[in-house]
Amino acid sequence: MDFKGKKGLVLGVANDRSIAAGIAKKLSELGAELAFNHLPDKGDAKKNERRIRKVADPLNTAFVHEMDVTDEASVDAFFAKVKSTWDEIDFVVHSIAFGNIDDIRKPTYQCSKAGFLQAMEISCYSLIQVSQRSVPLMSKGSSILTLSYYGGEKVVPGYNMMGICKSALEMTVRYIAYDLGPKDIRINAISAGPIKTLAASAVGDFGSMLKMYETQAPLLKNVTVDDVANSAAFLLSDHAKATTGEIMYVDSGYSIMGGPNRHSL
Ligand code: NAD
Repeated sequence: MDFKGKKGLVLGVANDRSIAAGIAKKLSELGAELAFNHLPDKGDAKKNERRIRKVADPLNTAFVHEMDVTDEASVDAFFAKVKSTWDEIDFVVHSIAFGNIDDIRKPTYQCSKAGFLQAMEISCYSLIQVSQRSVPLMSKGSSILTLSYYGGEKVVPGYNMMGICKSALEMTVRYIAYDLGPKDIRINAISAGPIKTLAASAVGDFGSMLKMYETQAPLLKNVTVDDVANSAAFLLSDHAKATTGEIMYVDSGYSIMGGPNRHSL
């Protein structure tokens, strides 16, 4: 896969363990030029920016700029920076999600309206928001990618409210794929197996989830950020030019199982 001469946005690096950080490293290795967002910093400490710069600076990075998807002005300012840097972009990686721990840990039917709306805004609507601003900068063959999880399709105890957000996110991918088809712009999602990151720490009993994949998935192992990054590069590349609206599992095959793995009996 060759990304030489291609330019794109990697949205959702929190630190060097983020899935987006792994994807950025892979795309940079393949020759892409990248731009990153970070959450706005309060005060002079620039903690968020510094964490992102640790990932971005060693890569082929055009810029790092703040963007909070709950603040339209912040999104507009980020895209103004994109437009003043590049005439066109070839890809967008959307790796953004948030749900407050209190609401995620509650039984789904007890989550608060404010918590639910915030989780949907950040974890689902932001894909629409970012696509809206990116598509005018994209030409034929460009591609958008987001990150989902199996809890959007089946009940994963502990994932709760976030499962509803991922379900909505996956349908958003399909409807946008339909919208963008005539422009020959693609959008896909990777449904990744559990990986220990900052966002994952909000999900209860994550250790058991990791164990489930090791014992129940056909490949009997957990997935790595590298595994996700390789598939992300494929979906964003011309090698996947006939694939759009797809939710690709990078989950060691966990999602195909309907009964216990022979190794756990
Ligand atoms: P992460 O915490 O490193 O990334 C989540 C990102 O969302 C962070 O960079 C955070 O700053 C960003 N974000 C949150 N609120 C934001 C806002 N208001 N504006 C802009 N950005 C905001 O965790 P991750 O695991 O790398 O998560 C990336 C994506 O992968 C998420 O969509 C997550 O649901 C998905 N995913 C994760 C796993 C896993 O097990 N880690 C599995 C499947 C899918």
